[in-house]
Amino acid sequence: MSQRLLIVEDSKPIATVIKQIARSLKFEVVIATDLAQVENILSTDTDFFAATIDYALPDTLDGEAIACVLSHGIPSIVMTGKMDDETRQKILSQPVIDYIPKENSQAFLYLKRVLHWQQTNNKNTILVVDDSSSARNHIVELLKRRNFNVITANNGVQALEKLAQHKNIKMVITDLEMPAMDGIELTNEIRRVYTREQLAVIGISGASNGIHSARFIKNGADDFLRKPFCPEEFYCRITQNIESLNNIAKIQHAANTDYLTDLANRRAFFRSAESRIKEYINKKVPYCLAMIDVDFFKKVNDTYGHDSGDQVLKVIALYMRKHFGAGLTARLGGEEFAVLLHGLDADYLHNKLDDFRREIAVSSIPAGDTSISITLSLGVVFDSEDELSKQMNEADNALYAAKENGRNQIVVFGAELDD
Ligand code: GH3
Ligand code: MG
Ligand code: MG
Ligand code: MG
Repeated sequence: MSQRLLIVEDSKPIATVIKQIARSLKFEVVIATDLAQVENILSTDTDFFAATIDYALPDTLDGEAIACVLSHGIPSIVMTGKMDDETRQKILSQPVIDYIPKENSQAFLYLKRVLHWQQTNNKNTILVVDDSSSARNHIVELLKRRNFNVITANNGVQALEKLAQHKNIKMVITDLEMPAMDGIELTNEIRRVYTREQLAVIGISGASNGIHSARFIKNGADDFLRKPFCPEEFYCRITQNIESLNNIAKIQHAANTDYLTDLANRRAFFRSAESRIKEYINKKVPYCLAMIDVDFFKKVNDTYGHDSGDQVLKVIALYMRKHFGAGLTARLGGEEFAVLLHGLDADYLHNKLDDFRREIAVSSIPAGDTSISITLSLGVVFDSEDELSKQMNEADNALYAAKENGRNQIVVFGAELDD
């Protein structure tokens, strides 16, 4: 079921804009144009993911709708035309997600970002480290209001334990003064293990001089907040740092991924394969490296068109994921793929490759109005201790032999000249 957004707004043009934004984020919307309607709707129906609330409505000029919506546990964003400090304080003293001054069109772009964060923040896990339970709870409450996934620790030592347990933590917010290990030491320890691309650290301190912010930053923190901070400032810092981490992750993903199939690309394959192979050799784990090439793929393009050809490549990638779940799969380029597999022994691995080859050979791949049948040729090297590039060459030679020998088959390097 899609998430629902309650829009409280008396201006029709503004309600329309918000509705469009909400629809683009896949929300179902319900609109109320005054406080009486809000009360009426919420008396029977409170199943809303969030609400946007206009501060001034025809039957209430002072934001009474905010308390009403919040009292039903619905996370709320306040939209206001009023910019004075008193109004701002009055809004921010209530547990709202955010307030947005309706000054210009930027306001609506910002609203879209806030709603998007609200939908996606649960993918971001934040570790809050503070020895004071009230300070910790305050930060946790602010983060939960924004749907972040939150973990807590009482000091630096415990924080390092939690980091080791929860590999998906993206950000650490840490107090300065704590027993066992303080925030500066913790930041230092974190930076021995995690780069700034992997984990953001935000330091917090109540001290009034600037020296602590400088110490935090010099020890590897990304940002600093001085207590007491207002929720607005807190959210700005957190969001900025999380967004920049997510952007880095997106760029890294794009740089390592084949755009068509979402498999690893050649570069990422080389990098991951090298370290995996080292480990297999050290631990004497049986493994193989296979190069896979589509047979007569040019004919597929010529007969069915390039788009259908692309569709075939995507489906091959799906089958690779299905058959080689724990292996490392990649599209090296064009219609050429590779897989690095480990397991029981050479027979087991050979069978896995052959199961994959056979399933592809008997499948008809839907593309447009037709379905397409293809076959694959594979060249494979087992348990080689050679350098990766040499292994790739060897697998390639075996692949060439498979093509020469009639295609739709696996040839093992070292055995290709036997028959
Ligand atoms: P063989 O059995 O000898 O491998 O024959 P083949 O036709 O598969 O080999 P060839 O190397 O002659 O042709 C590969 C074709 O793959 C040519 C090219 O147009 C096509 N191709 C390469 N990249 C893509 C792609 O991203 N999408 C599509 N649709 N086709 C591609
Ligand atoms: Mg209004
Ligand atoms: Mg080919
Ligand atoms: Mg080719």
